[in-house]
Amino acid sequence: MTAWDRTAGDPRGEQPVPGRVRLRTEPSLPVIRPEANGGSAPIETRPTVFDIRNMAVYYGQNCALANTSFQIYRSLVTAVIGPSGCGKSTFIRSLNRMNDAIPSFRLEGQVLYHGHDLYGSRANRVEVRRRIGMVFQKPNPFPKSVYDNVAWAARNLGMKHRLDERVEQALRQAALWDEVKDRLRDSALGLSGGQQQRLCIARAIAIEPDVLLLDEPASALDPVATASIEDLMHSLKHRFTIVIVTHNMQQAARVADRTAFFSLDTTGPDRFGTLIEYGATETIFRGASDSRTRDYVAGRFG
Ligand code: ADP
Repeated sequence: MTAWDRTAGDPRGEQPVPGRVRLRTEPSLPVIRPEANGGSAPIETRPTVFDIRNMAVYYGQNCALANTSFQIYRSLVTAVIGPSGCGKSTFIRSLNRMNDAIPSFRLEGQVLYHGHDLYGSRANRVEVRRRIGMVFQKPNPFPKSVYDNVAWAARNLGMKHRLDERVEQALRQAALWDEVKDRLRDSALGLSGGQQQRLCIARAIAIEPDVLLLDEPASALDPVATASIEDLMHSLKHRFTIVIVTHNMQQAARVADRTAFFSLDTTGPDRFGTLIEYGATETIFRGASDSRTRDYVAGRFG
C-alpha cells in the first residue's frame, strides 16, 4: 500500500465541508522538498511532476479535450497556450481535480502526479489540492484581513505553529511583504488588483504546495501589475513547479521554459481541443515543427 493509498483509505480522514476544511496535519503523500540546486538541473534529468497519459475530458456528451499526452517537469514554468475554447482551462483545472465539482465532467486516460494516479479510486482530493495549489484569473481574496487571508489554509490544516513567520514568509515570497507589512490587519479588499493577485499567490504558497497552477493570472491586471506577476514566476519557479495558462503569447515567451500549444482538432466530425505541440518555449516560438503552431505563434489565427 502506498502512502497515497493510506491517506485515501484512512477512515479518520475528514472530508471538507463548504467554507471550512479540516485535515490531519501529517503529510501522507511523499513530501517534495525544493531542489537543492535551485532547479538549475538540465531538463532531461529533472523529475517528472505530471505524466499526462492520453487525457480526454468530457462535459456530458461533449468532448472538450482529447488525445493529450505530455510530461511536466519539476521547477520549471510550463505555459499552455492556444485559441479560445481549445481546452486550456479544462486541462489546468484537471491537474488538481478542480473540475470534479462539475457534475457532467468526466476524465479518461491518466494524470500521474509523481507517479500517483490523481484520478485513481483511492486518491484523496483534499490532499491533491493541498499539494497542487491554484490561482485564478480574477483575484479572489476573502473579505478578511491580509493576514487572515494568508493564514486561512494553514489554520484549517492545523499548521498553526509559528503562523506569523509562515505568513511573513509567504508574503515575502509573493513579493508583497514590503507593501503590506504595516497593514496586515486591514481588509484585503482594500488592496489594488495586482496586490490582491499576489496575495492570492501568497495564500496558495503559505501551505507549501509542490505545484502552482495559474489560470490566466494576469489577464485582469494592468501592465505594471502584470510585470510584477511575471517577475514573481521567475523567482517562484525555483521552489515550485508552475503551470500557467495564458492567452498572451508574449507572456508565455517571457516566463515559460516549456510551452504546450493546444488547438481545436477539426479533422473529424467532432471538434475538440488537443495538444498539437510541446517543447522548449524557444522551439515552439521560433522553430515549431507543426504548421498550426507556426501559424498561431505568428498571429495568423487565434
Ligand atoms: P479555453 O480555456 O481554451 O478557452 P475551456 O477549457 O474553457 O477552453 O473550454 C473548452 C470547451 O469545454 C469549450 O467548448 C467549453 O464550452 C467547454 N466547457 C468548459 N467548461 C464547461 C462546463 N463547465 N460545462 C460544459 N462545457 C464546458
